[in-house]
Amino acid sequence: MRIGRTLPPAASPITSIDFLRGIAAIFQGQQRIKRFDEEVKRYFDVPHCFLLSSGKAALTIILRSLHDLYPERYEVVIPAYNCYSVPSAITRAGLTVTPCDIDPQTLDFNFDHLSSLFLSNRKKILAVVPAHFFGLPSDIPRLRKISPDPEITIIEDAAQAMGGATGGKKLGTLGDAGFYSLGRGKAFSTVEGGIIITGNTELAGRIRQYYSQVQDYDLAETGKLIINALLLVFFQHPLFFWFPKGLPFLNLGETIYDPDFKIKKLSPFQAGLAAAWQEKLAAFMRQRNKKTGMMEELLDGGIFLDAAGTSKASLIRLPIVVHDLEKRKRILAESNRLGLGVMPTYPAPVNCIDELQYLHAEREFTAAREMCEKIITLPVHPFVTGKDVHKITSIVNANEKI
Ligand SMILES: *Cc1c(COP(=O)(O)O)cnc(C)c1O
Repeated sequence: MRIGRTLPPAASPITSIDFLRGIAAIFQGQQRIKRFDEEVKRYFDVPHCFLLSSGKAALTIILRSLHDLYPERYEVVIPAYNCYSVPSAITRAGLTVTPCDIDPQTLDFNFDHLSSLFLSNRKKILAVVPAHFFGLPSDIPRLRKISPDPEITIIEDAAQAMGGATGGKKLGTLGDAGFYSLGRGKAFSTVEGGIIITGNTELAGRIRQYYSQVQDYDLAETGKLIINALLLVFFQHPLFFWFPKGLPFLNLGETIYDPDFKIKKLSPFQAGLAAAWQEKLAAFMRQRNKKTGMMEELLDGGIFLDAAGTSKASLIRLPIVVHDLEKRKRILAESNRLGLGVMPTYPAPVNCIDELQYLHAEREFTAAREMCEKIITLPVHPFVTGKDVHKITSIVNANEKI
């Protein structure tokens, strides 16, 4: 275990001031939540917003509501390269995961594969959930164009893309509904949290019915949240991050399949942590864009994820593809030794999840598997210094030559 300055792979800092605002908000209660809700609606220019305990809770509620509207539809199409929270939410909603392979150039859907899924499963598909991985925009207009049926709902997974935009439109507002995550390591964080936004009145009506039955955080859960926020104030800082990183029970950086997660309404404490979120989000994005630009400048060519304008997207981690698996292993080992926060992403495509037995006979998702094996991400968050940028890019470049 490394002891000493260690960069987290991603971070949206929570300061001690934020923490105190969170505590103050506990005494303001619902009023504080209402304010956050209004701010979200205004910022994204959407009529409906629902605040929850996580991105996966948000997705579960959207899916349950949709299934009420279209009870004969039950399949949810997702990129096979994905965060395991997404299939967890689909299972939790009582629905079926239908993976689609990805385009390794963009991490977006492989649109040929998607078209053939539409052809064969048209009447069964409830929703398609495109994701803006790391902040790289998925092509929602193209998805809408090839979707054969207006009853198939597009739910935008903007968990990693809060604040990002494409073609002058904010990510999360291009689909029929969208959701954000406020978890640790996302674009902006309140320890944990999720936001649903939609302009669809019928869907919003259903969501509101479910939402009214969702419980608030109880006292013990609020206590745990407060402790975790306090831990984040200290341990997310590079000077102390080596400590939680060495504690295996925190499951840092792991992506796990578990449909048994809590679904709660966002608490006043979290709404308080989110005070001045628009300014903070903008400042984080400026920082990340600056570091992304510096890295792109310093990295030797040829290893970039050639996505739809990587340089224009607002990324939470900079993904690069390293084709030589030995090199990739060396970069990760070196980063680990030096505490530089370079990380792999998802362990395997979603069809490989043990619990999803019904997917095991599925075809291989070749590009998704390849990207699980080849992508590493470089940290670009506000704690990354210019010196870090040089160290990180030099271990990546050096391994090119070994
Ligand atoms: C983090 C994440 C989620 C889930 O958000 P949580 O708040 O962690 O539940 C969903 N999709 C993607 C792509 C994510 O990165």
